[in-house]
Amino acid sequence: MIEPSVTSSADTMMSLARQMYPICRSITGNGLRQSLRMISERIPLELSEIPTGTQVFDWTVPEEWNLNYATLTDPNGKVIADTRVHNLHVLNYSEPKHARMSLEELRPHLFSLPDHPDWIPYRTSYYARNWGFCLPYRVVETLHPGEYEVRIDTRLSSGALTYGECCLKGQMDDEVLFSAHVCHPSLANDNLSGIVLAVALAQWLMSQKRRYTYRFIFAPGTIGSLCWLANNRQTISRITHGLVLSCLGDSGSITYKRSRQGSAEIDRIVEHVLRERGQSHQIRDFSPYGYDERQYCSPGFNLPVGVLMRTPNGEYPEYHTSADNLDLLKRQSLEHSLSVLKTIVHVIETNRRYVNLYPYGEPQLGRRGLYSSVGGSHQQPGYEMALLWVLNYSDGRHDLLDISQRSGLSMETLVSAAGRLEEASLLQPQ
Ligand code: ZN
Repeated sequence: MIEPSVTSSADTMMSLARQMYPICRSITGNGLRQSLRMISERIPLELSEIPTGTQVFDWTVPEEWNLNYATLTDPNGKVIADTRVHNLHVLNYSEPKHARMSLEELRPHLFSLPDHPDWIPYRTSYYARNWGFCLPYRVVETLHPGEYEVRIDTRLSSGALTYGECCLKGQMDDEVLFSAHVCHPSLANDNLSGIVLAVALAQWLMSQKRRYTYRFIFAPGTIGSLCWLANNRQTISRITHGLVLSCLGDSGSITYKRSRQGSAEIDRIVEHVLRERGQSHQIRDFSPYGYDERQYCSPGFNLPVGVLMRTPNGEYPEYHTSADNLDLLKRQSLEHSLSVLKTIVHVIETNRRYVNLYPYGEPQLGRRGLYSSVGGSHQQPGYEMALLWVLNYSDGRHDLLDISQRSGLSMETLVSAAGRLEEASLLQPQ
């Protein structure tokens, strides 16, 4: 279910998505840089350029790819694919090609979707040199023999891979990581929705008091997150929570994919938030397929990083096609996803372990003014029970989230009870 209220943050997210949509992005190149510049106009972003040929773990940063244009012209001189009309028309990372050829020679380089004959598929060939065109099947099925002209004006050359990160310092060095891939060309839900949500969340966090340090990574899929991991071995040990953000603008309900650890604090927090909101949602276990959680949760790192999505990758028909366009993004969904993320951040900030300083017998609460002397006071429901639950389970092993689950009391009530107990010197944060 989707909440009815839609505020101006949905407009801001939609407007950034509209602005970024036409750009031809890839895992390297000027489209990627231009996209990161647009993000940097909204939040402080530090850009890194990793040179072609750099070894990152088992991978090598490929040559930089830039597209000028690509066209395919039929034997009658009619242009049947033009990247200036839609940048999905070219196989992403196509090598340069200018040739005339028969339909038989051309066929292995044409990609289409017979099941969705009006849509252009999204195809890439980053690590194996190839060239090609992506076309609606409706066009492909009408092609007749003759001489076709292929013009792919691209450049593959020594350059760099670019990624951006925004670090918002908090009181602690412990970090919360949000990661969005930034390599897809004109595709909206996968992946502009993740980008605009990350930007909106960072903007909101900039105005909040922060206990944790927050780091937002905008990197091309796989090779980009690997570059970040390779360059930040020291930061990695400070990551206590993380979420990959993707597919957050469609009309489906929220899906949470757990970290590889399965019961990390972030897993418990997201599951708690989704349960408390009482709206339909899905929880899935980790699997080594999907987005950059594949790298963050590779066994050597095994970071507590889950994935927040609505309809997962590959599970909606428009996925990786021209139909994943701006119409697929729903303002209410973007707004709802942002609200879920803010609640998750709120729980990350407030969930902690305390130690009861009077663990031998119950401390006398009335004497300290913690119990109201008159029944039916203005306190939150369950407040007095919360004092007892927090005191009893604050043994350094249970956090407030555990206590919430055991007691059925809300985090809000427990946080406020813990605050009062701390003021009364009965409790101290661990
Ligand atoms: Zn994708």
